[in-house]
Amino acid sequence: MRIKGIAIVSSKVFGEIFILNKTEDFKNDIEIKDIESILESYVNYLLEETNGMDEKYKEYVNFYVGILRSKSFVQMIKNKDENLLKSISLAIDEISNKFNLENEHYKDISTELKFFKNELLDFIAGKLEKESFKEEAILVAKNLTIRQSLKAVKSNIKGVILETNALTSHPILVLKDKGIPTIIGIENAVEIAKNYKYALIDNDEVEFTNEKIEIIKKPFYISFQEDQFKTKDGIPIKIQINIDFPEEVEKVKNFDIGLFRTEYLYLNGIISKNEQKDIYEEMSYKVYPKILTIRLFDLGGDKVPISIGNPNIRGIRYLLYYNRELLNKQISAIKLANKLKNIKVLIPMVSSVEEVIEVKKLLEDIEIGIMIETPASALITDRFKKIVNFFSLGTNDLSQYTLAINRDDISFQQFHPSVFRLIYYSFSKSKPKPFSVCGDMASNDIGLIALISFGIRIFSIPISYLNRAKEIIEKLNKKKLSEISRKIITAYKEEEIIKCLKFYLDSL
Ligand code: PEP
Ligand code: MG
Repeated sequence: MRIKGIAIVSSKVFGEIFILNKTEDFKNDIEIKDIESILESYVNYLLEETNGMDEKYKEYVNFYVGILRSKSFVQMIKNKDENLLKSISLAIDEISNKFNLENEHYKDISTELKFFKNELLDFIAGKLEKESFKEEAILVAKNLTIRQSLKAVKSNIKGVILETNALTSHPILVLKDKGIPTIIGIENAVEIAKNYKYALIDNDEVEFTNEKIEIIKKPFYISFQEDQFKTKDGIPIKIQINIDFPEEVEKVKNFDIGLFRTEYLYLNGIISKNEQKDIYEEMSYKVYPKILTIRLFDLGGDKVPISIGNPNIRGIRYLLYYNRELLNKQISAIKLANKLKNIKVLIPMVSSVEEVIEVKKLLEDIEIGIMIETPASALITDRFKKIVNFFSLGTNDLSQYTLAINRDDISFQQFHPSVFRLIYYSFSKSKPKPFSVCGDMASNDIGLIALISFGIRIFSIPISYLNRAKEIIEKLNKKKLSEISRKIITAYKEEEIIKCLKFYLDSL
């Protein structure tokens, strides 16, 4: 049975099906008296997770296991006399505050405890995937959480088939950045897969089958000598790379890293200053003489949830106004790591000039750029020109906040005329500062064409899209592009824009 979907990472892979079933959910109505058994289940989960990991990580986990099993911690939770989640949250905050002394080491523990708090609360709310994934299989699920995507990566999953249509949700971006062949928009995939043993992902098609199929493996990217691709009529387009994980810098040479999403480090529990410094320094050496653009932790919202009791505020405002300590630690790690002077810093979710001035003070001589990903920042792009070194446009969040629709919603579309008008406006107000696009629109065939038609010449894209980007760029020519930009800016409806871009793409 063959079904067409949307290819996130185009490739051909074949393997045994592994269907992701939802794990047992602890409900919010669990009573405080059950707390000991819940904590013990979480401890077991943690210990299982550390199987096969190195000693350093095991030691680190054991420290927290000690706290979770201590009688005084349980008593502390019971004394809070609130509902279960709130009581746990308050108890961990209390311990964390006790560690928050002047001593750097204790400060680290204090911050890490907050990370464990998030994990534990997610675990209780049933959001943590406890099941292990079948190695080297084709994963079939309705949708994935970020954790599940990370777990799929860790389990060497060969390919992923999902029912969701949410192109730019973070779990899908993780798969895209890791280059895992992924296809989405396959209706009823889970029900259908139950009747089959194997699946073949063939670019934008899935074949469910009970027979083995032999396929010849092709690498998903090749190396390039230049970080510029040229259009048919010679316009140079500079390409940078988006990465989510430090090891990805090894997969590609000769390109600047335009976006390193550090929040995935946070998700993996890496928040101490020294650990961060080592990671950033090693990455900068590997990338040198190219640039490593480190984006400050983008926490909150649909990203790594901050935690219950914390404000629903995201990105730089969370760091500046609610977790200065985490920000200070990250910035000092970056400064210490920047021995080769090839690190730049990117600020997420900027909405006002004051935020940037605050961060700039801390960064001293390191170049800074801001993400244009809120309508607020897009509309005042010119106000930032004097204080930043570059701009990087995030189409994923810019679209979600412009259209008031979650980026992981199935009807999320980023080709709305208003999104394009904001991009066009912001770009036109950014000159002469470098302006790149690191959002997902730049690694979407018709999105890339639209952005180039506006005159944008720098794009930061996942490694998995390099080949395709080159193929498309080399077919473009300026005359046709200016016609396209006019059509986009004067369009009334999203469909008009998509139709025009698709028509051009098909004619290439
Ligand atoms: C964006 O919003 O477009 C972006 C690049 O940031 P992220 O996807 O990490 O939120
Ligand atoms: Mg964003």
